[in-house]
Amino acid sequence: MIYNSNPSIITSVYRKKTFTGLLTNYFSFTPMMYKLGLIRTLVDRVYKINNSWVGFHKDVQKLIFLLRKNCFPSSVIDRIISRHLAKSYNPSPTHNATLNSGNPSSHYFKLPYVGRFSDIAQTKLRHLLKRYCRPDLDIKLVFNTFKLRNLFSVKDSVPPGLRSRVVYKFSCAGCNAGYIGETTRHICTRVREHLLSDKTSHIYKHLQSSKACLDSCGTECFTILDSAASKYKIKIKEALHIKWDKPILNQQLKHLELSLSF
Ligand SMILES: [Zn+2]
Repeated sequence: MIYNSNPSIITSVYRKKTFTGLLTNYFSFTPMMYKLGLIRTLVDRVYKINNSWVGFHKDVQKLIFLLRKNCFPSSVIDRIISRHLAKSYNPSPTHNATLNSGNPSSHYFKLPYVGRFSDIAQTKLRHLLKRYCRPDLDIKLVFNTFKLRNLFSVKDSVPPGLRSRVVYKFSCAGCNAGYIGETTRHICTRVREHLLSDKTSHIYKHLQSSKACLDSCGTECFTILDSAASKYKIKIKEALHIKWDKPILNQQLKHLELSLSF
């Protein structure tokens, strides 16, 4: 924003010094509609923020330079910019009405983006929706983009003993009796309690009742079956594993009740 000598205020797009100019690359594995949408969004911003034609012209030139640096072809940039500006100069009543009111009955369906097959699927689905659904039913298809970082974690893996929010299983090395439990603390802490100190623990009681079992069991008898992001989810998973495995040392009468609609 600049104060003019008039005195009037001239507004233009501001970018921080740390802005590197990195946008979605034209050759990235992203639906074409998103790349074109990016140009439209940026042009719209330039159009709405600038209050003078000089500033607008300068910002459009900067925008074209940025898009070119991100490998967008000039023909695509020019086409989208001129179409968008033509719409902005001569807004149609229906376009304005849609923008102002929105459509509360819109339904969104998410599809995974897997390249050109997604575009084909989108076209076919649109055709089917047009043919078999009510005309007033506004169904929108959106693509879920895939990121390379989803394939691996950038963090070091947690050592097994320090994992938390897990469902674990104890299998007695002496008699093969089993127990399934959950903990939100470090698994090594809970294992130590079962083996050494928690007198209310079914595993502790079992080991104290048989010297053969006590002598043959250690931390290696515990395995992690499952993990979850929250305490509630870990309780559900514990209940499911107990229901499936039915380990004989699980005598607890209280655990999370499961129903079809949990
Ligand atoms: Zn045993």
